[in-house]
Amino acid sequence: MPLRIALVGVGKIARDQHIPALAADRRFELVACASRNATVEGVQNFTDLESVLDKVPDLDCISICTPPQAHFAAALLALRAGKHVMLEKPPAATTRQIALLADEARARGRTLFQTWHSRFAAGVDAAREWLRTRELERGRITWKEDVHFWHPGQRWIFEPGGFGVFDPGINALSILTDILPREVSVERAVLEFPMNQQAPIAAQLELRTVDGVSIQADFDFRQKGEQSWDIELETASGSLKLSRGGAGLEIDGKTLMLDEGLAGEYPRLYERFAALCAAGTSEVDWRPFQLVADAFLVGERRTVAPHEI
Ligand code: NAP
Repeated sequence: MPLRIALVGVGKIARDQHIPALAADRRFELVACASRNATVEGVQNFTDLESVLDKVPDLDCISICTPPQAHFAAALLALRAGKHVMLEKPPAATTRQIALLADEARARGRTLFQTWHSRFAAGVDAAREWLRTRELERGRITWKEDVHFWHPGQRWIFEPGGFGVFDPGINALSILTDILPREVSVERAVLEFPMNQQAPIAAQLELRTVDGVSIQADFDFRQKGEQSWDIELETASGSLKLSRGGAGLEIDGKTLMLDEGLAGEYPRLYERFAALCAAGTSEVDWRPFQLVADAFLVGERRTVAPHEI
């Protein structure tokens, strides 16, 4: 029997990825959506999660596709109603909230899948395996995109709890923490806030592994022309480059992998969610989120020109 699932928040990522991935996955049946503004054809539509939980019989799980500011309340409600929960990234508006959700899932015996979709990009597993036996010497992350193109009208991204440029930047940190054999922490950061916004439009981070290796990260939402989602790592025995958010992999300048990006990641996410629900276990890793929170804690704050979304 497929798992009966409902989506909360019908915006860009729900339409671009979640709904097509669910439609193609026989392990799930999308039966309902909760959206204040949108409806989805062929399923029951409600304006809030409370109504979904109240009116949809035999619902197994909820997938939350809202911005991070709305994650905690929805996930808590769903877990307390006995549903398995899949959470879009970033996990929540504060680090404490995701810890509390993990506790709640454990106490209720439900699955909490706190996703990092970029970890399911085509090149990530091979990159982790290649790095496992190598000695890292330095690293560079370049994550630069045009916020107007990728986040049209998404005002929440520059509001408190919206993460600003860390909304995409946290994807790079999710890959980095997944592939490096050693842990990293934030040593220094500079955060650039538009004078009319509440979240950074750009950030430069100096990360350091526990072995003392430096990794520079450059995140920018003002990129025009070519867009970059690259992680470059130099080791004592060769270099690795993950490009296009992990969809492309080069070793010593030779391309080993290049796939379709996001469209390949979401089917793999739902495959993992189904397996976690079947096993009755959760997957929660808030290290990328801690790095972002730490960048806010130690970061030097600079004010830059106003920016309209
Ligand atoms: P979006 O287009 O703005 O859609 C989010 C939807 O969430 C809105 O349409 C709204 O739907 C609902 N919502 C509920 N509470 C809200 C609130 N307080 N403020 C704003 N919207 C609220 O955003 P998105 O691009 O789909 O991103 C949603 C999440 O997915 C983010 O955490 C983002 O990081 C993640 N994500 C996005 C992408 C991408 O390419 N866009 C890729 C991967 C992950 P209703 O009107 O239906 O209530």
